[in-house]
Amino acid sequence: MSLSSEIIKNIKSVINFSDNSREINVHEPSFIGTNASKYIEDCLISGWVSSSGKWVTKFEELIKEFTGSEYVIAVSNGTVALRLALFIVGVRAGEEVIIPPLSFVATANAISHLGAFPHFVDIDSESLGMCSKALDNRLKKIAHFKGDLVFNKYTGRRIAGVVPVHVFGIPAKIDKIKNVCNKWKIPLVEDSAEALGSKVKISNNQIHCGCVGDIGTLSFNGNKIITTGGGGALLTNNAEFAKLAKHLSTTAKVHHPWEFYHDKIGWNDRLPNINAALGVSQLEQINYKIKKKRILHQKFVEIFQSFEDIEIIQELDTSISNYWLITMRLKGVKPEKIKESILQESHSSKIYLRPSWILLNQLPMYKDSQKGDLSESINQSKRLINLPSSPQLIND
Ligand SMILES: *Cc1c(COP(=O)(O)O)cnc(C)c1O
Repeated sequence: MSLSSEIIKNIKSVINFSDNSREINVHEPSFIGTNASKYIEDCLISGWVSSSGKWVTKFEELIKEFTGSEYVIAVSNGTVALRLALFIVGVRAGEEVIIPPLSFVATANAISHLGAFPHFVDIDSESLGMCSKALDNRLKKIAHFKGDLVFNKYTGRRIAGVVPVHVFGIPAKIDKIKNVCNKWKIPLVEDSAEALGSKVKISNNQIHCGCVGDIGTLSFNGNKIITTGGGGALLTNNAEFAKLAKHLSTTAKVHHPWEFYHDKIGWNDRLPNINAALGVSQLEQINYKIKKKRILHQKFVEIFQSFEDIEIIQELDTSISNYWLITMRLKGVKPEKIKESILQESHSSKIYLRPSWILLNQLPMYKDSQKGDLSESINQSKRLINLPSSPQLIND
């Protein structure tokens, strides 16, 4: 049996896949056995379906409790959450924001939506997130202070933010990244879209992803660990930022019983009540989902233990992952061919394994972006395959 067939066979055995099984995607939402219908019906009966209502407040309160963030502002998706967070920490048109190239395209797009430019720095191989050393080295090479502000000497643009990503739910080494940001006085926004339930251990405390930087963002898209259909949120411990986020996301309308007075150019970014109702029903299941995902992850670790050239990516000693997407790394010298055959073979069995994203700096709109040495990103992206990770693959 070829190596790729052997791998597919083992994946099938972990997920109890039989040839008449339905299609398997890497992460699928599930609403069975939840209060989804009940809560959504409440919206329909009360008529409160749009961008305010008690479910939005309740959802925000529950996210606050779950993450330990002091403030939570629910918005219409994760891309919007990033764009709003970047605007609030001060990113404006013509400035630069530093991000890793291994991410979903939204990380870069949110920057572009403000008229700013992504600038790529490398990742570390352990966390797959932004490498603090690569960040510091890049800044040493290209950045200089003018007063308290930092500029790229080569482009003349201000460097207005750093956005690490907690890739596939594995926490980035965010405390180290934060130290570099503090040193250079650059705001830190955490793209935690994939990391609800993931935590970092910092001096004996467990801190939820998104709560270390100035603002963290979440996504509740259909493929994420919990879903509101579409949705996102900002997490922050900064009262001013929270106030501004709420204001700008509700068309900057100044509260008044009848007047439509708006004091800024705002956005219509708020999460609708009907989506928040679905979100509450999903959040009631999150611990259960994480528990099952950790069991599934352990099964993959065990079954591939004896494979010399395969490793299942694990949380670090300093972090706890929600294992949103369980990821296999091919360790051999030339992984491209075997990766291609694993993807091909799995897709023909209707198990839709996925490679990691094409690096963002290789996409046409970002190919001329500023970038440091990206050799680790290039190396890792040849090797990564996301495995079936839905919690419902584990029986009760
Ligand atoms: C999903 C995702 C987003 C965007 O969230 P949407 O809700 O789909 O807009 C941003 N960043 C990362 C890393 C994501 O995975």
